[in-house]
Amino acid sequence: MKSNRSAGDSALAAFEVTVAYRNTPVLTDLSFQAPAGTLTAIVGPNGAGKSTLIKTALGLVQPLTGHFEFFGKEFREVDGRVSYVPQRTSVDWDFPVTSLDVVCMGLYRKIGWFRPVRARHRKRAMEALAEVGMQDFAKRQISQLSGGQQQRVFLARALVQDAELFLMDEPLAGVDVATEKTIISTLHRLRDQGRTAMVVHHDLDTVSEYFDRVLLLNRKLIAEGAVEDVMTPDYLKQAYSGKLLILS
Ligand code: ADP
Repeated sequence: MKSNRSAGDSALAAFEVTVAYRNTPVLTDLSFQAPAGTLTAIVGPNGAGKSTLIKTALGLVQPLTGHFEFFGKEFREVDGRVSYVPQRTSVDWDFPVTSLDVVCMGLYRKIGWFRPVRARHRKRAMEALAEVGMQDFAKRQISQLSGGQQQRVFLARALVQDAELFLMDEPLAGVDVATEKTIISTLHRLRDQGRTAMVVHHDLDTVSEYFDRVLLLNRKLIAEGAVEDVMTPDYLKQAYSGKLLILS
């Protein structure tokens, strides 16, 4: 059932969402609104439910109660406007395809499944690879890329989808400094174009530099809002239950 509250200005909104795996609650009564045109970090300790939040929003996991709205609509009405970048470790990188193939996969919605990839599609995919500094690796098998390079290819695949909302699960985990800079400058460029990203992020030190907003989780919402309002010692202690050394 839909809520009366309007989420039309939000790229993604959650309404009283509860998720459980085999009767163990993982997210309880989660509500938030991510305004369009902002970059939000999803932050919280391991097992806080960050990935589960993204997977539930995308319909990959069913909530017990509650629902999500994308641009005020249900996911199936807008799924071409949403791009998902899963955790790099959740993907079989031994699959025998090149970087260019992976980026072209992001175009299948536009091309149509089982239709040939044409020169103009390859050109768009090459442009996206260039945007993330990977044009020289277009013909390289993905198994032969470094972790950072694989993550950039993932980002290029998301870029060709031309989405308005990007949901990314730990894109900066284990990547090199150059890749981190590329990903962040790409996110800032997307935001400057009025697009929205929600990004699972593990490095508390860089949250304020990289993001506008934070969703702080630990199995429930601890706090949500502008970075300076959420990244306070009190909220961080609540989220990390004292397992965090706060130096400043
Ligand atoms: P985070 O991304 O914050 O580390 P997750 O959303 O991956 O947290 O996981 C939250 C909790 O749910 C963890 O305790 C995890 O072990 C559990 N969990 C995640 N996926 C499943 C699943 N498919 N089946 C059962 N339990 C799961």
